[in-house]
Amino acid sequence: MGIGYPPKPLDIYISQLTVSLKPIQLMKTLHCKDVGFDCPGIIQADSEAEVLQLAAQHALEAHQTTVTPEMAEQIKPLIHEE
Ligand SMILES: [Zn+2]
Repeated sequence: MGIGYPPKPLDIYISQLTVSLKPIQLMKTLHCKDVGFDCPGIIQADSEAEVLQLAAQHALEAHQTTVTPEMAEQIKPLIHEE
């Protein structure tokens, strides 16, 4: 008999590998709300230029807003791959 601590059970945490299956092809994505509109609209296309074009169309139709070249420049950094 000795003085000691009970053996500490080795808790082996097997981290569950969560493999997120992402679509193989990522799309250039713009969330309308990121631009500042209170809108759930998501614009997706293969290229940034296409997203901008669709965004301009959407802004006009849904928000009666004309996307100026200056606005387009501000929108560009908001486009990400998703
Ligand atoms: Zn919108």
